[in-house]
Amino acid sequence: MELYNSLSRTREKFEPLNPPHVGLYVCGPTVYGDAHLGHARPAITFDLLFRYLSHIGYKVRYVRNITDVGHLENDADTGEDKIAKKARIEKLEPMEIVQHFTNRYHRNMDALNVLPPSIEPRASGHIIEQIQIVQKIIDAGFAYENAGSVYFDLEKYAAAHPYGKLSGRVIEELDSQTRQLDGQNEKRFPLDFALWKKAAPEHIMRWTSPWSEGFPGWHLECTAMSMRYLGETFDIHGGGMDLMFPHHECEIAQSVAAFGCESAKYWMHNNMITINGQKMGKSLKNFITLNDFFAGTHPALDKAYSPMTIRFFILQAHYRSTLDFGNEALQASEKGLQRLMAGVKALDNINPAEKSTIKIENIEEKCYRAMNDDLNSPIVIACLFDGLRIINLARDGKEKLSETDLNILKRTYKTFIFEILGLKDEKNENQTDLITGLINHILEIRQQAKENKDFATSDKIRNLLNELGVEVKDRKDGAEWRLSQFKT
Ligand code: ZN
Repeated sequence: MELYNSLSRTREKFEPLNPPHVGLYVCGPTVYGDAHLGHARPAITFDLLFRYLSHIGYKVRYVRNITDVGHLENDADTGEDKIAKKARIEKLEPMEIVQHFTNRYHRNMDALNVLPPSIEPRASGHIIEQIQIVQKIIDAGFAYENAGSVYFDLEKYAAAHPYGKLSGRVIEELDSQTRQLDGQNEKRFPLDFALWKKAAPEHIMRWTSPWSEGFPGWHLECTAMSMRYLGETFDIHGGGMDLMFPHHECEIAQSVAAFGCESAKYWMHNNMITINGQKMGKSLKNFITLNDFFAGTHPALDKAYSPMTIRFFILQAHYRSTLDFGNEALQASEKGLQRLMAGVKALDNINPAEKSTIKIENIEEKCYRAMNDDLNSPIVIACLFDGLRIINLARDGKEKLSETDLNILKRTYKTFIFEILGLKDEKNENQTDLITGLINHILEIRQQAKENKDFATSDKIRNLLNELGVEVKDRKDGAEWRLSQFKT
């Protein structure tokens, strides 16, 4: 109990983050299935922001949550909890589902070279904070209880504060569009949303609260976790455009009602992904998971696409533009990325000359300018492609580059490609894996020879590896190896 309290304690006073500190909150996944392209885009967009802000000297506290409770099937206040439903079908504990898909999500993110956030809180670990915010909203007069559930009084709120500023929605229009759903009769106004729901007897995930044994509404978790780790007001709140309404509008309303101020100074939304011009959806049979992409195991895919191809493809579009996935476009990205990586490699093999015979055209400054202009990664990539012409001419001896120019190019390409865009040279990585695998296999064969007392073969293998620069040390439980200084 004490541990639980210390993990989920509330703060009376929060020291706001001041420059060079930046608070960034991004809505994370609801973990009831494998990550798909719709998860990759916000992850990569905000990874780019995180990397760039860190690169230019900010200390970023990046909070990205895991939704493990309260996200109901139809994204509203009714239906089954998405995780509880999966748990029921799979006959597992809801937290087993959460752990399983969180682990898989992390593996996908690692493959995409998405850096882990500074804090990755779970909604279920912050129930106490959520209950306290509900109470604050009730006390402020913007929420009411009915039959053990608590609803946000949107009609009253909208009369006192602007509502719908992110999405440009007008409350009267929304009102007429709202269908009469289950549970709506508990609400005073159809657009009111749940802050706390009384759990039905079959509902597994439930907590005690002053109103009922139940669970928090989905929109509440992000208000609670951003407040807990970044304060009542913080710098940037991000997420996919699909979360703008109602999720983020509800977050704003909750913050204003509970704390009297809006949570985020800036809202950033990445646009959506379509597949061959169509929206993604389970029913449309174009729901391609990241693992499908990496393995090429979906009928819509001509082949497997590596994680870096996916990352590069996403970065080739501005985050606010829509992005359409198709095999042709992906294959073009794959080739483009190979050309870029070949260019970086070529830079290391160019000998500097006394003077440059060609201008490098402020390439570094252009890249920074593009990033400073609302993270314009496609312009950065276009600048890097333009520079390849100069690099290739110098590589072929047709033009010369001074040491200064060569250093600027090396710095620009390495900083932007690896550090800021977060791309990796997969070819090199694959080669390392291959070498490691081969050496381990060869040493297994040597171990067999030793066990068969065939010392001639075992010595021969060790000498051969030594000659190639692999030092082998015999231990009681097998052999260890390491690469000695590379022989040239
Ligand atoms: Zn959220």
